[in-house]
Amino acid sequence: MNSINQFLKDCDVKSKQDRTVYWDDNTLYSIRENPDDSFAGLWFRTMGCTHDRSGGCTMCDYSAGPKTDESTMVEAVRQGLRKITGRYDTFLISPSGSMLDSSEVPKKAREEIFHLLKETKHRTFTLETRADTINQPIMDEILSILDKRLKKIYIGIESSSDFINKYCINKGIGMEQIERSVKLLNDYNITPVGNVLAGVPILTQKESYIVCKKSINWCFENHVVPAVFVTHIKENTLYNRIYQMGLCEPPSLWLLIDSILEAPDELHMEICWYRTYEAFNLIKAADTCPGCYDNVLNALDKYCKYRDKDILRKLDCDCKKKWREGLERKEAALPERITRVYKALADNLLGKEYWDKNGKDLESMIYRDYKEEAFKW
Ligand code: SF4
Ligand SMILES: [Zn+2]
Repeated sequence: MNSINQFLKDCDVKSKQDRTVYWDDNTLYSIRENPDDSFAGLWFRTMGCTHDRSGGCTMCDYSAGPKTDESTMVEAVRQGLRKITGRYDTFLISPSGSMLDSSEVPKKAREEIFHLLKETKHRTFTLETRADTINQPIMDEILSILDKRLKKIYIGIESSSDFINKYCINKGIGMEQIERSVKLLNDYNITPVGNVLAGVPILTQKESYIVCKKSINWCFENHVVPAVFVTHIKENTLYNRIYQMGLCEPPSLWLLIDSILEAPDELHMEICWYRTYEAFNLIKAADTCPGCYDNVLNALDKYCKYRDKDILRKLDCDCKKKWREGLERKEAALPERITRVYKALADNLLGKEYWDKNGKDLESMIYRDYKEEAFKW
């Protein structure tokens, strides 16, 4: 199955054309430091993710910056590093996109940035990048500078289904490419960490839950540490448009919690972004009811520290029961719902004539690829 979804790309470009930007002319970097010495991250300004610029993932608004030259990127990292006084076990460097994409971070800037990192006292480094930016020459380049201190690389898997990644997420990368990249990382003794979504736009909570579980299992089978990302609804995204039109359910933290409880006990996975960290463009956080929300967040903090599932098992509230009951709700078949969402997006973003001209072709492509995928899932 070809992984490019030109329809979602066109919709996403339209949806983000007047986006609120985080990276304005005066913002060069952003820092997050954990209260203990486990983790710190430094995000620096670039023009943003290449995939996003041509119509990116339906749930993502990682923002995009103005044209930023190489020396400004390097200076941003230099300034950011000076602000960080602690010594961290894991230090993340990120351009709010893909660190190894030379059209986001040119080779010269990338090398200078790695040299700056090398001079710091942080114990190990990590970065995030799209799977299609990982190759042998680039790995040799980084390791010649950071050597064994580069421990892991985050890549977006989102789900292990080509169909879901193409029609619900617009990932633009097939699983074959992801498999090749994680194999290469493993050959280099660098841990691939795969971002997996707890909550996929368009899918019901039940489908999202199944997809999350299958994707976690795929990670284990392919020697990838899953990093389960809670999907919040961000302004400017197609997910937000679908949500505002009443065509998908709101995201829930119970989906994350049940996915953790279902995962094999002995296997390690990372849990990310259940707190929103005051994201600049948040419309609707994945949450629970107001009565138990703080309690649930504290339990997730505690779970991440002690890795004791009983902490999560003991959580109880009427909203959890309602969420579980909702899993039994009968819905139209997935290709039918995708078609309905696409028509609404087309009418909303591409003009009324678009669907008359292209709707039939899109619909038959969705059904054809759905059938093909059904054999694998
Ligand atoms: S999720 Fe990653 S690849 Fe997709 S648009 Fe966002 S930054 Fe780009
Ligand atoms: Zn509740």
